[in-house]
Amino acid sequence: MNPNHSDEVKAFLTRGIKAGGYVSDGPVADTFTAGWALHPFVGKRAHYWDRRWTLPSNHRHAATLMVGSLCGQESPISERLPLLGVGNFSHCELCDRKLLRGMKSRGSR
Ligand SMILES: [Zn+2]
Repeated sequence: MNPNHSDEVKAFLTRGIKAGGYVSDGPVADTFTAGWALHPFVGKRAHYWDRRWTLPSNHRHAATLMVGSLCGQESPISERLPLLGVGNFSHCELCDRKLLRGMKSRGSR
């Protein structure tokens, strides 16, 4: 759970988890470059995303940044539609496998 949450928010999230619900940790930090996160519009699981490219500022859509997942999905995110912390959502198995394989091929097993 996000350590920056207030005790009140932590208690609320804990209640949600105990009730059998799924809760995210809220928007990821602006400094996010790669890692497990929930995309508001992509699936019901957390994927391993990384930043791909920034869309021009005059783009018709509000999105400002394209992110891609290890399992091959690409989707825009923006300040108003950020990636969310994983919370207690499960991880995408495909991303998980690719991440493990990537770590092995870099020799850091
Ligand atoms: Zn995935």
